[in-house]
Amino acid sequence: MIRVENLHRHFGGFRAVDGATLSIEKGTVTGLIGPNGAGKSTLFNVVSGALPPTSGRIVMDGEDITGLPPHALFHKGLLRTFQIAHEFSSMTCRENLMMVPGHQSGETLWNAWFGRGRIAQEEAVLLKKADEVLDFLTISHLKDERAGNLSGGQKKLLELGRTMMVDARIVFLDEVGAGVNRTLLMTIADTILRLNRERGYTFCVIEHDMDFIGRICDPVIVMAQGKKLAEGTIDDIKANGAVIEAYLGA
Ligand code: ADP
Ligand code: MG
Repeated sequence: MIRVENLHRHFGGFRAVDGATLSIEKGTVTGLIGPNGAGKSTLFNVVSGALPPTSGRIVMDGEDITGLPPHALFHKGLLRTFQIAHEFSSMTCRENLMMVPGHQSGETLWNAWFGRGRIAQEEAVLLKKADEVLDFLTISHLKDERAGNLSGGQKKLLELGRTMMVDARIVFLDEVGAGVNRTLLMTIADTILRLNRERGYTFCVIEHDMDFIGRICDPVIVMAQGKKLAEGTIDDIKANGAVIEAYLGA
């Protein structure tokens, strides 16, 4: 579904992504792991259109999408989740879903989707959809709760919910488990699997928690020093000497 070919992203003379070549197969939950500073988040930023690459190519379903801006990628169903911005924390969960924040310019996704000025007409549709999403996430009881009052894990669920408002096809998740308690982490893992199996989402997931990765990801891609070091099942990866060395050396 996604092919990253010899991708580079340099910052000055520093090669954060240094010739990464990897693929994400349609229908998978692909894990992306590696030591701190390996270039994982930078790779995500380039693939999701937040940063231009220095060189290299990104192909989605056979089409060159290199350098497309985030809103163009949204239209193709390629999304990365963003933390709920401060200005949305006083809005309820339901309102947050209905407002689906868009790319950096501040334009909402729904503006991009329907065209400006049509939001009022679409409100009933949005409301119904938001309630379906809350139901899927099993957080219907939180629909009128302000987003700012949610726990870290509940916020992550809401962020996942926002991808459902636009029927994403492939979602990039960067450290979805950071600061989330164990129980909610497993709820998030199960929600990702349900989106994968029941809704056909493809995922690429960066996460440090190996239990989480092992539970939901196949395959797992390991990055080190800006490029792909290894790929395989979690068991292959855990037994791979070069991977162990990369972690120890980091
Ligand atoms: P990871 O997510 O694997 O921990 P990152 O992609 O965040 O790694 O970072 C890779 C390297 O690139 C790090 O050394 C980081 O300091 C550097 N880096 C990331 N973003 C920038 C930036 N905007 N300017 C300069 N260096 C950066
Ligand atoms: Mg990172």
